Amino acid sequence: TLPKIPIFEAVASHDPNSTAIIHSLSGRSFTYGELLNDIAAAKDKLARNTNGKATEGERIAFLVENGYDYVVTLLAILGSHAVAVPLSPTFPAHELRYIIDQSQSLMLLSSDKFQDKADEVLKEGLETKPINYKPDKILVGNTIETVTLENPTSDKGGLMLYTSGTTSRPKGVLLPQTVLTAQSSSLLKAWDYSSTDHLLHVLPLHHIHGTVNALLTPLFAGATIEFIFPFNAQEVWERLAAPFLPAADKSKRKITFLTVVPTIYNRLLQSHKSLSAELQEATRTAISPGNLRLNISGSAALPTPTKAAWTELSKGNVLLERYGMTEVGMALSCGLEFADRVDGSVGWPLPSVEARLVDTETNEVIGVGEELDRDGKERHGEIQLRGPTIFHEYWMNPGATASEFVEGEDGEGKWFKTGDVAVRREVEGAGKSSQEWARGPMYFIQGRKSADIIKTGGEKVSALEVEREMLSLSQVAECAVVGLPSDAWGQKVAAVVVLSEEGKTGGRGGKAWGPMDMRRALKEQIANYKIPQEMKVVESIPRNAMGKINKKLLVKDIWG
Ligand code: ATP
Repeated sequence: TLPKIPIFEAVASHDPNSTAIIHSLSGRSFTYGELLNDIAAAKDKLARNTNGKATEGERIAFLVENGYDYVVTLLAILGSHAVAVPLSPTFPAHELRYIIDQSQSLMLLSSDKFQDKADEVLKEGLETKPINYKPDKILVGNTIETVTLENPTSDKGGLMLYTSGTTSRPKGVLLPQTVLTAQSSSLLKAWDYSSTDHLLHVLPLHHIHGTVNALLTPLFAGATIEFIFPFNAQEVWERLAAPFLPAADKSKRKITFLTVVPTIYNRLLQSHKSLSAELQEATRTAISPGNLRLNISGSAALPTPTKAAWTELSKGNVLLERYGMTEVGMALSCGLEFADRVDGSVGWPLPSVEARLVDTETNEVIGVGEELDRDGKERHGEIQLRGPTIFHEYWMNPGATASEFVEGEDGEGKWFKTGDVAVRREVEGAGKSSQEWARGPMYFIQGRKSADIIKTGGEKVSALEVEREMLSLSQVAECAVVGLPSDAWGQKVAAVVVLSEEGKTGGRGGKAWGPMDMRRALKEQIANYKIPQEMKVVESIPRNAMGKINKKLLVKDIWG
């Protein structure tokens, strides 16, 4: 049996013969019927082999590769009312030890592939003493014929994801079943997932994007999820093209849904140039609006040139940008109609998400219609959120939990302070679709309060805005804008730049493009005080798996 919780009710309601999961490279596929059966079998085995210890509220860490076994493991843990703590095999052992200890995981489940890693992790330095279970004990074997769903005996359990650690040490975010269900329900409404969707999954599964948006929500909808992991641009292009090649592979259905991070779109765009002519044409058809129903970008700001290049390549498909974080799932999103996918905007609060902007200077709530200050300048506000999709607590960190929620004046519940700053703007022509939640002024993210809002000479500068402008220059391939301490200005704007091929010789007299060239180019585009006073050229800017830059570390590496 499995508890009658929404995710299992959904999985059980789908056609048992329809395909749930595909391993793209091997072609192995698993139906919804098999999935339900295997979850129930794995849940039973988990209980048996741990003498009933895998039970309500207990944290169970697991190191399992992306694919069917991961899905079964995750759902078997949810089915046990325990808390699933997915670990990334790419993390060094000491990071994994931190997560296992911080989450006080009772056990570590690891698949064959990651036995060495598990052994290394468990060898030394752990405060907790998790039991290591190997997959033959938990996953393999189908002994159950008919799975029945029974009324849940507990509402404990859920998913614990660790934040990326962009601004501080990763924190354990506890997402109870109810929150996970609310997050998926909101996305199902907004993005219209359906059982006819075929999603290509290329993201890590220890972040909210890969787990909730690209796995749990499509499972709710009865869609097919096809895994290619780790991401490889050539493999992704070949898979997208397969149904559209002259000698089409009839066994491959077309991909209708892609949700990834901006760096992946960049890598796809880059590698497209080196495909054969035949593949180039087939992939362009594969990602065109009539075929790829949804192409979504998030987890980091989408550069406008990336968005424009994708539209061009896909013969008119427009990337849909959304904003979210580990603590809240998805919070703001552009709409399904192209007119509602405005450059630089992350749209509107998603269904069931309540959002407000709180002026970072005055601490006042910025009401609709109050977006400009007395001088006509846009007011910067911190995004605060509440509703059923928001987490309740950081694991074993009551201090952080208390300081990141603020009581609402209306007595309707606390608001979560995201630490992200945005402005809101009415956009002509947008917000008129049949999607009722996509109405009113749109949100434009300015960046993290702590790392991206630079105060220079009394003026506020959004690092994200300057990055967007810099990226529109053909000499700049990548950039990160930061604030450095300055005696004269409080902070000064500085930029770290990776030059494009054109940039390497694009300066005066055929030299590399430099700070003076940058000033000259940006003068046309932004106010003087926003133009970086310093510019450092580097070979590459380190990013994590979700395309995020740790600016604190970057500044330390470059400026000491
Ligand atoms: P930590 O809290 O430890 O610093 P993190 O917040 O980077 O880690 P995540 O929860 O994975 O970890 O990331 C959420 C953040 O990603 C948001 O707070 C926001 O700053 C950024 N983000 C997400 N989507 C977008 C977007 N579309 N545009 C700009 N920033 C985005």
